[in-house]
Amino acid sequence: MVDISIKNGRILTPKGFVEGSLLIEDGIITSIGEKEGAEHVIDAKGNIVMPGLINAHTHLGMTLFRGYADDLPLKEWLTEHIWPIEAKLTEDDVYAGTLLGCLEMIKSGTTAFADMYIRMNGAAKAVEESGLRGVLSYGMIELGDEERGEKELKIGKEFVKKWNGTSNGRITAMYGPHAPNTCSSEFLMYVREHADEDKVGIHIHASETKAEVEQIKAQCGMSSVKLLDSLNFLGPDVLAAHCIWLSPEDIQILKKKDVKIAHNPTSNMKLASGIAPVPELLEAGITVGLGTDGCASNNTLDMFYEMKMAALLNKVRKLDPTTIPAPKAVEMATVNGARSVGLDTGVIAEGKKADIIIVDMNKPHLTPRHDLISHLVYCTKGSDVSTTIVDGKILMENYQVKIFDEAEVMARAEERAKDLMGC
Ligand SMILES: [Zn+2]
Repeated sequence: MVDISIKNGRILTPKGFVEGSLLIEDGIITSIGEKEGAEHVIDAKGNIVMPGLINAHTHLGMTLFRGYADDLPLKEWLTEHIWPIEAKLTEDDVYAGTLLGCLEMIKSGTTAFADMYIRMNGAAKAVEESGLRGVLSYGMIELGDEERGEKELKIGKEFVKKWNGTSNGRITAMYGPHAPNTCSSEFLMYVREHADEDKVGIHIHASETKAEVEQIKAQCGMSSVKLLDSLNFLGPDVLAAHCIWLSPEDIQILKKKDVKIAHNPTSNMKLASGIAPVPELLEAGITVGLGTDGCASNNTLDMFYEMKMAALLNKVRKLDPTTIPAPKAVEMATVNGARSVGLDTGVIAEGKKADIIIVDMNKPHLTPRHDLISHLVYCTKGSDVSTTIVDGKILMENYQVKIFDEAEVMARAEERAKDLMGC
């Protein structure tokens, strides 16, 4: 007997929309459009059945900081507000924050995400419980201190060894050196060696701010990307978040080394970091996924909103409304996102893993329906997602979260935030 059948759907496949049923067996999509009947039948009622969205860059533990210390200069925000609290964070806090983030993702249609943070055993425990797919890394900051670097790498390595490939493969691990200006060249080369040895990828922030690129230029006489390339650090397994301040030469290097990029338009606007040259990156044939970044710089994890921001932001920069059209934004949040974080998902096709969402189109802001792809990018909100399935398991059906008690998750996060910040 087939496990799950979604009937009466408008199924978004790489070839366009297909009307009918979708079957899921043992976590895999086995039929699209034709066959019906299963142990569990979900009636999509003519709504959109599409691949779950992939958040290619976030720090879920930071959901506890949502709305705390907004609208400040980056340096003041980090040194006076975020870092002092992060120093107090326990594994339980990160567990509570990550679980809250997972709940928000399930409810807004994200089925997989790449996370870099601290106290990551707490995060992995939350991902294990949530049913989501997580590509997790321990964020290492070394600041040229050899002793500190040894300690950081030890934690990063233990995390990779403990969690990579667990939860039926739902959890994968990467190394997470924070950025080229918070980790020395020696340390970055050391991380590359260990990533090769353990056969895992690397998640890093790069070229996020003008100040970072200027600092690297003053220290090494070259750009952040060129520096990383000179260390033989770059490769197809590198996920680089932001990549805003790039020269044409940097773009050529990123293409040559097949580096994957996570574009975070809302965070880049909120922190006034700048605008990533996404059209130029796509033109060069580079894989660009989309991310929300942490909750303190966004302040939600809604990937539908992120698609809209990605489609709009570069239109303003280029003064060209044809830049990043809606289908491209959907591609960035699904299939490109999956590729960028090293997953073989993000697409509805027979034989692919069943990471699927249903978007409820029966809403005033989604009426009339001239163009469904346009609606997904410019009108849909995360709260229009009614059903979320990951690895063939139903995490939410008809707006009811099945995997854990929603109220409990929110109450725990509220309590941890109150303890940490007294508000
Ligand atoms: Zn980030």
